[in-house]
Amino acid sequence: MGRITLDKVTKRFGDAEVIPPLDLTIEDGEFVVFVGPSGCGKSTLLRLIAGLEDVSGGEIRIDGTAATELPPAKRGLAMVFQSYALYPHMSVRKNIAFPMKMAGMPKEEQERRIDNAAKVLNLTDYLDRRPGQLSGGQRQRVAIGRAIVREPAAFLFDEPLSNLDAALRVGMRLEISELHNRLETTMIYVTHDQVEAMTMADKIVVLRAGKIEQVGTPLELYRTPRNKFVAGFIGSPT
Ligand code: ADP
Ligand code: MG
Repeated sequence: MGRITLDKVTKRFGDAEVIPPLDLTIEDGEFVVFVGPSGCGKSTLLRLIAGLEDVSGGEIRIDGTAATELPPAKRGLAMVFQSYALYPHMSVRKNIAFPMKMAGMPKEEQERRIDNAAKVLNLTDYLDRRPGQLSGGQRQRVAIGRAIVREPAAFLFDEPLSNLDAALRVGMRLEISELHNRLETTMIYVTHDQVEAMTMADKIVVLRAGKIEQVGTPLELYRTPRNKFVAGFIGSPT
């Protein structure tokens, strides 16, 4: 499960309408990338879906249920931020266990999920280290591990790689794509990086000032950009 629909969703901060009425459907299992320049509303959209912000109008549904009836913890969504937000004084194992511990999950189930996530992310040898003893890429993997153990209906990534250097970004892109292939879980991935969008997405949503300029596969956007903005952003030859 992991079908997310936005029906005329709007968001205002004071007098500023940051998201004008917006419709979008994200299918179960899709890898959807929100791309657009800084300030266009990508993070706001993700935070609305996650329930970290309330919509000003319209409705978000998650697997058919109105999000307003689902408190953030019940939405089955796991968010991964660019700042990994790891606890420096805790081991990797404890960092990954934290959300499960908070949820009161039995210890054996916690251990099973940690071992599984560590295998998927190649962190098995690092479980007893602290975040300070890890590389940037490893820290990002721990942050993803903390999302995986929740077995979410969808992962929400907000520019997860923007703190990493260029070489590491390429590797982590492959790792996240591989994770998607393996789990087949819905992923919504926010970036301002065209290369990330073009190489990772099943479906790209191009945003400009809170509005959707175009939705399509990377190839569709490349071949038939709807306007100059999309063409410029996608690097289309038009
Ligand atoms: P992006 O993630 O695409 O860079 P954001 O979603 O962070 O863009 O921001 C979209 C717009 O909403 C920006 O103009 C930003 O200043 C504004 N905004 C975001 N969060 C708030 C807030 N909490 N209060 C007021 N304005 C906000
Ligand atoms: Mg942002």
